[in-house]
Amino acid sequence: MMTDREEHLAANLAAVRERVAKACAAVGRSAAEVTLIAVTKTFPASDVRLLAGLGVTDVAENRDQEASAKAAECRDLPLTWHFVGQLQTNKARSVASYSDVVHSVDRERLVTALSRAATGTNRSLRCLVQVALDDAEGRGGVRPGGVPALADAIASAPGLTLGGVMAVAPLGGDPAAAFGRLAEVAAALRAVHPGASMISAGMSGDLEEAIACGATHVRVGTALLGGRRAIVR
Ligand SMILES: *Cc1c(COP(=O)(O)O)cnc(C)c1O
Repeated sequence: MMTDREEHLAANLAAVRERVAKACAAVGRSAAEVTLIAVTKTFPASDVRLLAGLGVTDVAENRDQEASAKAAECRDLPLTWHFVGQLQTNKARSVASYSDVVHSVDRERLVTALSRAATGTNRSLRCLVQVALDDAEGRGGVRPGGVPALADAIASAPGLTLGGVMAVAPLGGDPAAAFGRLAEVAAALRAVHPGASMISAGMSGDLEEAIACGATHVRVGTALLGGRRAIVR
């Protein structure tokens, strides 16, 4: 017997998977090319457990304190943990201890801190360069012009591997244009670093546009888990 919550999550998951499949079919891609990452921030570890039971393999969090506790509670589950939030260097050690992929690398000081943390714990951490697709301050990300140098720094840092790029579409902008720009940045990066194949783009509201532009990883919270309460930072 499924609980109400499990039934709700199962229905949401089926709907999101259907959206991904349709978006892939529309541009001649295989749905197997797109990994669904469940963004579980603000939701309890019990939801992570239910999602894992329903076949979700990848989860993401954006705040270290919440993420570290949840990852510890879910240590027995075969999940890949993604960190997608803005990251202070003094949290690098903690984040590196439970994360498999960090999507939000946007400055060299963070590369240094993550490298030190990863080598200290003997782990290998996959890092994505977060690309800022507009001029808005405070949302993280490096401008496209800064991507090559940051990518080189990640690729040559002990304990880190360069996974690719990540972006959030600018608020109020045209997501298709933003993700098109991201695709260009990603292609230029792959020309130099062929293994950097991940394009992390697309959320509940714009995953179709992201998939049309080549996203390999979509980060979906609301459409899977429901609305979040506002978090005061
Ligand atoms: C919260 C969050 C998401 C998920 O957003 P939804 O609109 O709830 O799907 C994706 N990416 C990042 C970086 C986030 O912080």
